[in-house]
Amino acid sequence: MEEFRLHSNTTMSTNENTNPVLIAGAGPVGMTAALALHARGIDTAILEAESEDRDRDGSRAIYVHGSTLRTLERIHPGLGTDLVDEGLVWPTRRTLYRGKEVFNRTYDSPGGSGDIPHFTSVPQVVTEAYMHDALEDIGIEIHWDSEVVTVDTSPDGVHVETGDGAEWEAEYLIGADGGGSEVRNEIGANFEGDQSENAFLIADIEEEGGHGEELERMFHYDAPETDGRNVLLVPFTGGWRLDIQCLGDDDPEELKSDERMQEFIRDVMGEEYVDNLKWVSTYYFLQVMADTFVDEHRRVLLAGEAAHLLAPFGARGMNSGVADADEAASAIAVALGARTDAVARDEIELYAARREKAAEYNLEAAGQALEYLQGENPATILRKEAAASLADTFEEAGEWLDDAPYGPHGSPPIVSTGNY
Ligand SMILES: Cc1cc2nc3c(=O)[nH]c(=O)nc-3n(C[C@H](O)[C@H](O)[C@H](O)COP(=O)(O)OP(=O)(O)OC[C@H]3O[C@@H](n4cnc5c(N)ncnc54)[C@H](O)[C@@H]3O)c2cc1C
Repeated sequence: MEEFRLHSNTTMSTNENTNPVLIAGAGPVGMTAALALHARGIDTAILEAESEDRDRDGSRAIYVHGSTLRTLERIHPGLGTDLVDEGLVWPTRRTLYRGKEVFNRTYDSPGGSGDIPHFTSVPQVVTEAYMHDALEDIGIEIHWDSEVVTVDTSPDGVHVETGDGAEWEAEYLIGADGGGSEVRNEIGANFEGDQSENAFLIADIEEEGGHGEELERMFHYDAPETDGRNVLLVPFTGGWRLDIQCLGDDDPEELKSDERMQEFIRDVMGEEYVDNLKWVSTYYFLQVMADTFVDEHRRVLLAGEAAHLLAPFGARGMNSGVADADEAASAIAVALGARTDAVARDEIELYAARREKAAEYNLEAAGQALEYLQGENPATILRKEAAASLADTFEEAGEWLDDAPYGPHGSPPIVSTGNY
């Protein structure tokens, strides 16, 4: 006979370290998960390894898709529109090929109509600051300096220990503790996948006094200014993301020196930006996902970079992490209200099925962009050259060159919230 379970609010004691749901990690995904749980009437708290006065370096996720903004607006009214007010929508897409313009299009209404545009461009630190304010508004606590060190699960729930020696009980745990996830290690899940062959140099350059109206996102193939390296330049509120793809025999650490960066900035952006470098880092992008997104007892759900790491082309990282978080909250809400263990288990398994499928799809899409950019395939090289030589006559050829670095636009086959 089916075993019946008690509702969470009747099983929980008043111990302050007891919550129906705990979240590991106060990155954008963990904070979204907390907001999404609250929106569904579920109490939660976040355990965060770092201190409250931490610095989060770099602009990172600047491209926030409309579907992500809509999800944030749905779970915390005002959050999506605040980010829209804070961000910017660039109206022009421009692409050059070895110094020659091959595509240039300006949209009259680049964001579309309505309160939520197709995208907004805003640094991740700003998005996180707004999420943080939203958590404060509704009284969700972040326990800083609380690194999750062990996770034990059973059919009845989760026991967590943090580095400060505190012990925590919960019915469910969302592991949103980023790429190096300890929660993932603790449930015995493993990352599987590849790493990019090329390194990428990513820098933030400040725009003093704010941007004007005429903003463009620019991609330059084999740019002469960078001795034949691909360059991407994207505006965001307060600055520019400069992304330079290293060549095979480059030493990325040498290229990231102040002297070399100043040369790149001068040659790509102009003398007036030379002293405006705010941050620079080098990356080899991992393309990996966990072999399972849930533990054996269906009590721990991995979300965001704890579950998958994607190359950033197509901007699927944070965007898909927000969808994970919202879906994890939705599954947990049903599971907590379930009157049978089997229904609860099933719901968590459905989360894993949906989000593993989505991650596979997103990995494939980001992988196509990466493969295209690394450009080793002779057919791709030929296609790029043919498109560049036809671009003056056929706009479609230039548009293809403009579009291809970001991979396909499609969404995963099973989508319930968000598009990624
Ligand atoms: C250069 C670059 C550009 C990018 N551009 C985009 C873009 O345009 N659009 C996009 O969607 N994505 C983009 N991304 C990806 C995006 O930055 C990540 O997907 C996003 O930060 C993942 O969020 P997260 O909350 O899963 O992980 P994180 O942001 O890594 O947060 C994890 C949190 O968990 C904490 N933590 C770690 N271990 C523990 C522990 N044991 N216990 C408790 N807490 C712990 C960490 O301190 C951190 O606060 C980009 C990434 C890079 C590097």
